[in-house]
Amino acid sequence: MNLEGQIAIVTGGSRGIGRATVLALAQGGATVMVNYHRQQDEAEQVVRLAREIGGQAQAVQADVTDETAVNRLVEDCLQKFGRVDILVNNAGIARDTLMLRMKEQDWRDVFEINLHAAFICCQAVLRPMLRQRYGRIINVASLAGMVGNVGQVNYVASKAGLIGLTKGMAREVASRGVTVNAVAPAFVETDLFHDVPDRYKEWALAIIPMGRFARPDEVAAAINFLASPAASYVNGHVLVVDGGMVCP
Ligand code: NAP
Repeated sequence: MNLEGQIAIVTGGSRGIGRATVLALAQGGATVMVNYHRQQDEAEQVVRLAREIGGQAQAVQADVTDETAVNRLVEDCLQKFGRVDILVNNAGIARDTLMLRMKEQDWRDVFEINLHAAFICCQAVLRPMLRQRYGRIINVASLAGMVGNVGQVNYVASKAGLIGLTKGMAREVASRGVTVNAVAPAFVETDLFHDVPDRYKEWALAIIPMGRFARPDEVAAAINFLASPAASYVNGHVLVVDGGMVCP
């Protein structure tokens, strides 16, 4: 994908799917702001890798649930580069447990990062994107947000909400050149995924036609497409990346 001259922000770009997305966008020629929360070393390493493959990137610390910090990040981006073309709302967490045992804080924390932060980030970039009459917003949802999952009511509801945010916004802003789409991965081999119990992984593996879990770069490739000018007429779409697990 040719992203030459484009400016991107990837939340949670220090690890996993975010990291792979930074590298994919940088490889295409985009300049990427690599947002991280706590793992500065990991973020700096992603920046180094992005530069090694000929891209441009810089690490930016911000808790995406903090509106002031997010606004500062976007302001910083606008001051340095004059525009923001791509936002990937990737930062996310899971606090898995059965509904009966779920603490209210588990519910709130997951919603705060997986859904509310995406709202904050979308609002922060929307004005500049509307002004420049171009923007690509990609929300990293989850297959769980479409079909549900045991032990993940908070996560499922937050990702279903993120899909709703995607579709609602897609209708609002398309006429001004801004598209809003989501990807819905199933199981991707990242730190987040390592907490999934082995017996559940075995069950999942048995129903994935491709017989394996996704690599982060395979999700990044889908994000990269939606972020590119090639996806100019794709809007309000949820791109499932699940190896054929549900074939929705
Ligand atoms: P991961 O490896 O655990 O990485 C999470 C990333 O989010 C890290 O970069 C982390 O930053 C960042 N982050 C967490 N809280 C943050 C905050 N408050 N502010 C800013 N950044 C924050 O996760 P992943 O598996 O790559 O997941 C990425 C996205 O894909 C998530 O939205 C997840 O729900 C979704 N997803 C994952 C899977 C899967 O199987 N892995 C499946 C479907 C959907 P630090 O490094 O600084 O902590």
